[in-house]
Amino acid sequence: MYHYRYLIIGGGMTADAAVRGIRQHDPDGTVGIISHEAHAPYRRPPLSKGLWLGKSPESIWLRTENLGITLHLGQVATVLDPTAHTVTDHREDVYGFDKLLLATGGEPRRLPDTDDGIIYFRTYADYLQLSQLAERHDRFAVIGGGFIGSEIAAALNQIGKHVVMAFPEDGICSRLFPAGLSRFVTDYFAQRGVSILSGCTLSHYSRVGEQASLRFQQSGAAPEPQIEADAVIAGLGIVPGVALAEKAGLRTDNGIVVDECLRTSAPDIYAAGDVANFYNPLLGERLRVEHEDNALTMGRIAGANMAGAAERYDHLPFFYSDLFDLGYEAVGRLDATAETVEDWIQPYRKGIIYYLRDGRVRGVLLWNVWERVPAARSLIAEPGPFSAADLKGRL
Ligand code: NAP
Repeated sequence: MYHYRYLIIGGGMTADAAVRGIRQHDPDGTVGIISHEAHAPYRRPPLSKGLWLGKSPESIWLRTENLGITLHLGQVATVLDPTAHTVTDHREDVYGFDKLLLATGGEPRRLPDTDDGIIYFRTYADYLQLSQLAERHDRFAVIGGGFIGSEIAAALNQIGKHVVMAFPEDGICSRLFPAGLSRFVTDYFAQRGVSILSGCTLSHYSRVGEQASLRFQQSGAAPEPQIEADAVIAGLGIVPGVALAEKAGLRTDNGIVVDECLRTSAPDIYAAGDVANFYNPLLGERLRVEHEDNALTMGRIAGANMAGAAERYDHLPFFYSDLFDLGYEAVGRLDATAETVEDWIQPYRKGIIYYLRDGRVRGVLLWNVWERVPAARSLIAEPGPFSAADLKGRL
């Protein structure tokens, strides 16, 4: 049996940030990390962006192992006993802990009955698999029009691959962007040579050797679009990794519910990152956020609090993406169904979109506009009410 003063389940960016938070307060306490991945913690964003554009794979490693910790890689934690303060892994190894962090992230959502050869892109192993396929093949099908789908489709296009992108919505990132911007981005992808199948869901998938055959149901279209591909990548969202917490009787509700200091409903057990459902005082509501800034900031605070600090997590995280030469930063709730005010300096090239609810700004999209995230946060904190005229030229 192992015993750690601090045990972390999950080996992602949240775990690395938590170790750094622990070490700010406790330089010597034993730390163990259990991760089902074969690799030590790494930066995830470059997997769908920079690594395809010449960034070195060496640059992604976070070097958590240099912080005097023990990594248990390739292990799956299967049982948590909050009373005994133990975790058991799939090989029946038992780990005792004084403080535990659940940084279990999420698992990619999968298509039913089509596991055969589809890359549900999330990990460094997925990146390695896809980059090896890209060395040998040219035709790629990307299913999903969200973050992974759009970033991977742009990346593969930029290295000269033929890419077909299929998604159920009308346009790329249409849950995030207002219709006009989503249309512009979708046309932009098409102009770059990405074949777009919008309004499409997969109706048939088969594979012979490495060659895949896909057919889609498309709203209002007959016959059904059909394509052949050498590799299929899917980004269909993630399902938060709550199984261990749920079985242990911890409170879950769209993730593991934590308080303002990131404690779960069980003593000495914390949660952070993609899996944690937390209250954000600026928005006045509970959130679960699947982006880097949240992982880093929340992870650090969870680690610090496990080591005796009492920091509140009241940060409103930002996120960002790069799609060809279009880039953005965003903060707060970006919900395309909300009322929006669009303030373009140059239409769809540079500008700011405000997302409102009941006259308050709930989210801000900074489209090719940089270094305004703190100002956007301050605006979200203001009670309003705001009209379109108040917001135009505001940031
Ligand atoms: P995502 O952004 O939620 O997008 C999921 C996409 O898959 C949507 O287009 C969705 O359509 C579609 N979809 C869902 N079920 C489908 C089905 N059965 N058939 C076809 N399409 C389906 O999730 P993601 O792109 O997979 O990204 C995974 C996670 O990584 C997310 O948490 C994301 O935040 C994170 N990530 C973040 C960044 C960044 O911050 N820049 C980059 C990469 C990944 P509907 O909307 O119609 O369901």
